Amino acid sequence: GAKRSINAGLRASIDDDGADSGRVRVAVRLCPKNAEDLSHESNFVDCVELYPELKRLKLRKNNWISESYKFDEVLSENASQRRVYEVVAKPVVESVLNGYNGTVMAYGQTGTGKTYTIGHLGKDDSSERGIMVRAMEEILSNTSPLMDTVSISYLQLYLESIQDLLAPGKPNISISEDSKSGEVSMTGAAIFQIRDIQHFLELLQIGEANRHAANTKLNTESSRSHAILMVQVKRPSRVHEGNDFSSLENTATADLPTILKSKLVVVDLAGSERIDKSGSEGHMLEEAKFINLSLTCLGKCINALAENSPHIPTRDSKLTRLLRDSFGGHARTSLVITVGPSGINYSETASTIMFGQRAMKVVNSVKLKEE
Ligand code: ADP
Repeated sequence: GAKRSINAGLRASIDDDGADSGRVRVAVRLCPKNAEDLSHESNFVDCVELYPELKRLKLRKNNWISESYKFDEVLSENASQRRVYEVVAKPVVESVLNGYNGTVMAYGQTGTGKTYTIGHLGKDDSSERGIMVRAMEEILSNTSPLMDTVSISYLQLYLESIQDLLAPGKPNISISEDSKSGEVSMTGAAIFQIRDIQHFLELLQIGEANRHAANTKLNTESSRSHAILMVQVKRPSRVHEGNDFSSLENTATADLPTILKSKLVVVDLAGSERIDKSGSEGHMLEEAKFINLSLTCLGKCINALAENSPHIPTRDSKLTRLLRDSFGGHARTSLVITVGPSGINYSETASTIMFGQRAMKVVNSVKLKEE
């Protein structure tokens, strides 16, 4: 969307360019075939057909082809990391710079490129940098180190326990919620003020090493945990710098907040295959819930929101408590769903597509109603 300044006291609309109604934006990204996909190529037809210009996609199983599903963006295996950033994350990052909260999430089967999309550091080739690094580059180049502060926390959520990826072993990290504003924050997490992109890259690398170490210790794979980067941007309100005051009826300038605070949350979700497997094999459901209560609960909340249900079970898991303000108020949320092309992945791909379709129905201005 077009950039514009927003007065801190007036967060009425995020409809910058008319294209955004506050609905969660969903892009689908196809990953390239891996060696296993290629080895099965002669036995399985590809399970997706993309129509990127139409922003549509069809599912295919043997001779059966589905209707086409519409997304906000359909990205082929040739889409560059830059393009993915621009369509998925850039509008959210611009909102964050304008004082709104924003969330970017990746959802999909393990091995379909969630971490590549979200967390790739691009150490050897900067064109491969993922969303976290590009978002930070954009935030740093639009803020002033003298006036503004940009700080991060980087966490992992595994089996409903939160681990600090930048301060391993830090106890008592909890999710707290401001009773008035509904603003969600992490209490007890280490917070690092970012000096420059190099500093951020070093922290991400430390986080990645700690995630690996934590998962080895817990005897799990990273595909079962969610990695969560929280970026807090604090900047003096720009109300004195020639904004349009005409719409500020009856609002005394002195009453306006002087610091604009906003938050960007970037989440590399756990592999979605467990939900799918649990769905197809009833007795596994309880076990899968235990393995990933948070992901199961995210699916339930998305379904409830998509159906305009009066009860959204956000309190049932840590992930949905953490994302509670990403699906309400004026936050801007973007989801990238990643899918594999090979027919061996058909059921996982189909379930990911359905998750994405339901997420497209979620409108952010919906006020969540708790039990
Ligand atoms: P996930 O996080 O979903 O488990 P990864 O991001 O680890 O998946 O991706 C699995 C492998 O596929 C990695 O080696 C990654 O570099 C590669 N990969 C995934 N998507 C792409 C892509 N669009 N282009 C190039 N390589 C990719």
